[in-house]
Amino acid sequence: MANVAWIGLGAMGFQMAGRLSRFPCVVYNRATSIAKEHSTKFGTVFAPSIQTLCKSSPSMIFTCLPTSKEVENVINEIMCHKELLQKDTLFVDCTSGEPADTRKIGKILESSGFSMVDAPISGGPHGAKAGTLSMMVGGSRSDFDRLKSVATAISANQVYCGPLSSGHAVKAINNIMNSTHLMVAAEGLAALTKMGIDPAAALRVINASSGRSLQTEQRLPKAVLSRKFDYNFKLGLMNKDINIANRIMDDYFPEALLMRTTQVLSNNAVKEMGYDADYTEMVRYVEKVANVIIQ
Ligand code: NDP
Repeated sequence: MANVAWIGLGAMGFQMAGRLSRFPCVVYNRATSIAKEHSTKFGTVFAPSIQTLCKSSPSMIFTCLPTSKEVENVINEIMCHKELLQKDTLFVDCTSGEPADTRKIGKILESSGFSMVDAPISGGPHGAKAGTLSMMVGGSRSDFDRLKSVATAISANQVYCGPLSSGHAVKAINNIMNSTHLMVAAEGLAALTKMGIDPAAALRVINASSGRSLQTEQRLPKAVLSRKFDYNFKLGLMNKDINIANRIMDDYFPEALLMRTTQVLSNNAVKEMGYDADYTEMVRYVEKVANVIIQ
């Protein structure tokens, strides 16, 4: 049986590592109180340091951190203790990372004989708790097959996307599509609300019509019209993904227009609402510009 280690117990990692407690599972978090809480709640083993985590000699080390920058720092720290690891320890990065940085991290690991897959996820904290996440994986086919033996505990759907960093590229495009759907719906509902139309009624019929999306079916009724804005995904992290997607556009499709507009709106929303706002609060920015509350 695989023995696993998990680094980063935030909104996603806390729940995902909880589902891995069916394996021997060691957890590390920068704020140690959260790792202790995890250990109490799920029966995982608390590691007070990266060195202690390495001493457990895990067969797979998962990271779920804000950006590739934090992942690179953690990997460099792990490499200071690499003699404690199994020779074939697989590194699995569930962070929504930057593809170019992922390839760089892969080279750092490769130079010490280790391999890595990028395995970002979609489905939010609720999907993380339920084990229903989608996982988009980059790396070698054989590492993907190895990951699958463990990943079925956290994800209902793992898709092999191609060489290392392919998962991170797909994830960035997924998230910019997600945000674009949210903002286009918010703009439309802002105009309808100003016309005096009830946005809840508009959503009910749109959701039975061709303009519907995950955003109109789930986020707008549950997080926006309710005024809860409680999805639990930071706006600053979503904005990071939108900027990653635009760097992909710079390289592969500079003529693209829609994603550039989403980027402008998202950057403005972060300035207005702050990094730690919920991503659904992009709609508050649209409301501010339109001078209307969608309710
Ligand atoms: P959170 O902000 O909730 O958690 C971030 C985690 O990273 C915490 O465990 C935090 O530790 C740790 N961390 C932050 N900075 C550092 C650092 N400098 N060194 C070491 N550890 C650090 O993020 P999420 O769990 O929401 O997101 C994690 C990743 O998953 C991101 O890439 C995000 O884009 C992606 N994602 C998020 C989804 C969501 O709905 N929330 C959905 C799908 C993907 P500490 O407790 O000490 O602050």
